[in-house]
Amino acid sequence: MLDLNSIIKSNEPLSKHCSYKTGGPARFFAEPKNNLELMLIWNFLQEKKLRYLVIGNGTNVLFDDAGFDGLILSLKKLNRFMIIDKNILTAGSGILLDDMVLFSIINNLSGIEHLSGIPGTVGGAIYMNAGAFDTEIKDVLYSVEIFKDGEFTTLKASELSFSYRKSSIKDEIVVSGSFKLNFAKNDPHKIRDDILNKRGEKQPLEYPSCGSVFKRPPGTYAGKLIEECGLKGFSIGGAKVSEKHSNFIINFNNASSKDIKDLISHVKMVVFQKTGIMLEEEVKIIER
Ligand SMILES: Cc1cc2nc3c(=O)[nH]c(=O)nc-3n(C[C@H](O)[C@H](O)[C@H](O)COP(=O)(O)OP(=O)(O)OC[C@H]3O[C@@H](n4cnc5c(N)ncnc54)[C@H](O)[C@@H]3O)c2cc1C
Repeated sequence: MLDLNSIIKSNEPLSKHCSYKTGGPARFFAEPKNNLELMLIWNFLQEKKLRYLVIGNGTNVLFDDAGFDGLILSLKKLNRFMIIDKNILTAGSGILLDDMVLFSIINNLSGIEHLSGIPGTVGGAIYMNAGAFDTEIKDVLYSVEIFKDGEFTTLKASELSFSYRKSSIKDEIVVSGSFKLNFAKNDPHKIRDDILNKRGEKQPLEYPSCGSVFKRPPGTYAGKLIEECGLKGFSIGGAKVSEKHSNFIINFNNASSKDIKDLISHVKMVVFQKTGIMLEEEVKIIER
């Protein structure tokens, strides 16, 4: 017999569930391990008329210091399966994207090796249309299993639309994704190793962050603009523009979410004043 109290926690610190390691408590927090638990949580949400937010590995979200006045639905534990049928790889939403990349390579498939090292989940990567080194999730996405309004459905990738770090997914909860890959002709292991090395060299992976804070503006790079505006190393409280990669704002010394948000606003203001370009956040700022 499933007990809701064992699935839904109260006052869970969100700093434990995001890569920035900031944020206050969620009024409710649930981490379903299977579709049945997801359904029960859904019924709870309907009954209590609660606002909710789905998260994966929390690597592209910035929670509020006051927390979240609703239910945070973490799908990280929907990570029970990865299966390959010929060149189609299907993975649960909570599987880490990087684990899926490694699994594909071990099985001699290629197509997603350029996404090595992105720390999100499969669900988060589909929602965000995550990408790196000229590959985006949409390039290989075959179908998506979603949960919406209490029902599970499978959509073909062509029924969704994707653009730079954006998908048409709104109220749908991604439960799993299938990806159409190629039988490897090149050496995906080597590509993966090179990419992981590049990430280590260029990104401040030793500090909590959300990766790139801003989207790439047309024709240039956010990091380049930020650096040219003299903001490299600029800090507010415990948040700092990384010296290693100017589009990363790192939590270098017990930053609050407010420190990070204030620094984001400051960077946007200075870059706009000096270049006329308004940067747009890639990170999802979550209101209480
Ligand atoms: C060091 C570092 C490097 C990074 N490098 C890259 C990079 O190279 N390229 C890149 O694209 N990103 C990068 N990122 C950002 C981040 O990893 C990606 O955006 C990733 O896809 C987010 O996945 P997540 O599971 O952490 O999603 P979360 O941060 O948990 O959520 C992000 C958004 O997706 C939604 N969401 C999450 N899961 C689901 C689901 N199952 N169903 C519906 N909606 C969902 C959430 O509501 C939220 O709006 C980096 C981050 C870090 C910290």
